[in-house]
Amino acid sequence: MLTGKHVVIIGGDARQLEIIRKLSTFDAKISLVGFDQLDDGFIGVTKMRIDEVDWNTVDAILLPISGTNEAGKVDTIFSNESIVLTEEMIEKTPNHCVVYSGISNTYLNQCMKKTNRTLIKLMERDDIAIYNSIPTAEGTIMMAIQHTDFTIHGANVAVLGLGRVGMSVARKFTALGAKVKVGARESDLLARIAEMGMEPFHISKAAQELRDVDVCINTIPALVVTANVLAEMPSHTFVIDLASKPGGTDFRYAEKRGIKALLVPGLPGIVAPKTAGRILADVLVKLLAEPS
Ligand code: NAP
Repeated sequence: MLTGKHVVIIGGDARQLEIIRKLSTFDAKISLVGFDQLDDGFIGVTKMRIDEVDWNTVDAILLPISGTNEAGKVDTIFSNESIVLTEEMIEKTPNHCVVYSGISNTYLNQCMKKTNRTLIKLMERDDIAIYNSIPTAEGTIMMAIQHTDFTIHGANVAVLGLGRVGMSVARKFTALGAKVKVGARESDLLARIAEMGMEPFHISKAAQELRDVDVCINTIPALVVTANVLAEMPSHTFVIDLASKPGGTDFRYAEKRGIKALLVPGLPGIVAPKTAGRILADVLVKLLAEPS
């Protein structure tokens, strides 16, 4: 149980509702900032403005997956108010207070460094990233169906990267009957791709290997779908770029060549906010229950 733990949840999207529900079930004391338009009546939950938080009593601060922007602003879909988390606010929390965020940036890193508080980047955790790869892969299938006029079954699909997302995406497209080839750079990953019954290729050979591809799914957060690669692709290829902003595709050149290429961030929150929220909530409950 989380009895006696004071958690401030600042901003976010539908995923936060599952987290609030779970933390509330576990008896945490929850302060919600940026939720004034939320109607759900959660028990033990108090809505407030950020300047009303009693920081001295806060054990944990939960930010959205996106964290803050470089000015400390936190996004929320449940309020029109502008919410800014400052170093001064974090400074007032007890030393053991932990900040949880999906990802971080220079602003947040600086705040943590100056206040000497711990930041946990949830999206860097293998467990969360692997569970999250499931709704991400389902969302990718949705995109492929919506944006093409052919079946996935029988299509030539290339997946770039065999990390946590790449592996799930490659598996699911294979299961749907696509002819899947996967690009990676490490020899162990190339061996794993072959073991999984897919066609491996070295990422440096992408230009040649993608000449006959119908759908190209990038998961590598580096420029790999370059102008050279795009120049060799068929014009009907649909490029789905899942990598974090700015993605790994030369979108300017893709547009010039008439190749449809989309950067598609945040699929779990779009296609399965409930599941994505539960994934976060389950891990958070365990982390919050650990002795500080
Ligand atoms: P990951 O496990 O770290 O996998 C990334 C893969 O990219 C690794 O296999 C890595 O290979 C490879 N890679 C990195 N830099 C490379 C380079 N320069 N050349 C060739 N390969 C390179 O990450 P992940 O969890 O799969 O996530 C992948 C991306 O998707 C991230 O940007 C993440 O933020 C994003 N994401 C997007 C969504 C969405 O909804 N769109 C959802 C979840 C995650 P090595 O092992 O050789 O380094």
